[in-house]
Amino acid sequence: MMNLHPFADVVQRAKEICAEGNARCFQQFNCAGCGIKQTMAEPNRFYTKGQCEECGHITDIWADGCNHMLILGPPTRGTPEPEHGRRQIIIANAHGDELAQQLADLGIARRES
Ligand SMILES: [Zn+2]
Repeated sequence: MMNLHPFADVVQRAKEICAEGNARCFQQFNCAGCGIKQTMAEPNRFYTKGQCEECGHITDIWADGCNHMLILGPPTRGTPEPEHGRRQIIIANAHGDELAQQLADLGIARRES
């Protein structure tokens, strides 16, 4: 099983990496139901909850912790670009909606727009 790190630590690290503007971070977590490793499709977006594609279980990633996969360099074919720009890290709920309070708790400034 993949090693998990506290949510805040992973987001902080992703924030530092993506501040360079040349990398994309994909959130990964272990399903609390079946244990399979899941990778989120949207880069630079960190979800507090995630539903398993295999068993449907919803994992509390905020509580359980997560990890990230890093892709460096310019985008290649088939690799999605972050919706809000490469330097921006978004924290989102299970529906992908931005969570202002969690951003504030982690000391991340909310995007302007
Ligand atoms: Zn599962």
